[in-house]
Amino acid sequence: MRRTLTLFLFSLTAMTSIQSAADKIVIAHRGASGYLPEHTLEAKAMAYGMGAHYIEQDVVMTKDDHLIVLHDITLDRTTDVDEQYPDRAREDGRYYAIDFTLEEIKGLNASEGFRLENGEKIQGYANRFPMGLSSFRVPTLEEEIQLIQGMNKSTGNNIGIYPEIKQPEFHRNEGKDISTAVVNMLKQYGYSTKEDKVFLQTFSFAELEIIKNDILPMAGININLIQLIGGESSYPWMFEAEGMHTLAEFADGIGPEKGLVISRSSTRGNLDITPLVERAHAAGLQVHPYTYRLDPGQVPAYAEDFEDLLRLHYFEADVDGLFTDFPDRAVQFLQLNQ
Ligand code: CA
Repeated sequence: MRRTLTLFLFSLTAMTSIQSAADKIVIAHRGASGYLPEHTLEAKAMAYGMGAHYIEQDVVMTKDDHLIVLHDITLDRTTDVDEQYPDRAREDGRYYAIDFTLEEIKGLNASEGFRLENGEKIQGYANRFPMGLSSFRVPTLEEEIQLIQGMNKSTGNNIGIYPEIKQPEFHRNEGKDISTAVVNMLKQYGYSTKEDKVFLQTFSFAELEIIKNDILPMAGININLIQLIGGESSYPWMFEAEGMHTLAEFADGIGPEKGLVISRSSTRGNLDITPLVERAHAAGLQVHPYTYRLDPGQVPAYAEDFEDLLRLHYFEADVDGLFTDFPDRAVQFLQLNQ
């Protein structure tokens, strides 16, 4: 009897440790964006080659209703739209993707993200791929799904996609139902059950409810949904004791900003792990925080280095996966720590 119990406890422990290491995932944030311009097919292919488990797409809509992969609803930060179409900015000086056709957007040069200082383009992360070198384009969601599914075929792997619906309310105000368009495309490419390798994410809880209650049933599919959480102020109820249980009626997981998992006020050796992961897990939700970067100044002071940051989040805070611009480092970290 005792032996059986010991054996049982042993296998339980072994199972738990195998699960906790091998089931954790790496999500390539905008592709391998630490190395190649974000949201280009090149950055996605590199992330795939690096062994990321999921590759992220941010999705916005064009004037002629095509879905493109772009982080901002504007084209200013990552393309030369200002040089090619200087008279097409709105009154706020921004160039909205929704004001351009796919053909026009396909003619733009994509680059590492930049900001304007005294009329000069200064790239956001100085150590990353230099602006102006080589040649990159803004992909459509369909091109990107085909790229990943094509590599799944040629390699025999099954790498997932992780699309985010960007600013659904903005799109609705512009007369476009972006969520239905994205869901229909996912269905078209065979993503239809919770076993399929897709997580559909959005910051908007109102939109998540619409997707869960109306759009997915209408399409006849049922895929994993992720509620992104930028801070405690947007949805205070999510941080109350029962918040995660309420959310679990709609979502399969959360994507919190990483400071909501380990508080920014933490110091070396004195971690302030918030109750968020524990509450989410108790409600059956997965936790995939963002964004883990190793550029200068991007590793919080409570971590010794980037790998220590990964260790604290994966194994001390027990998150299930994380979004990183440097997927190779997180993949290597998990392989070494299984
Ligand atoms: Ca995103």
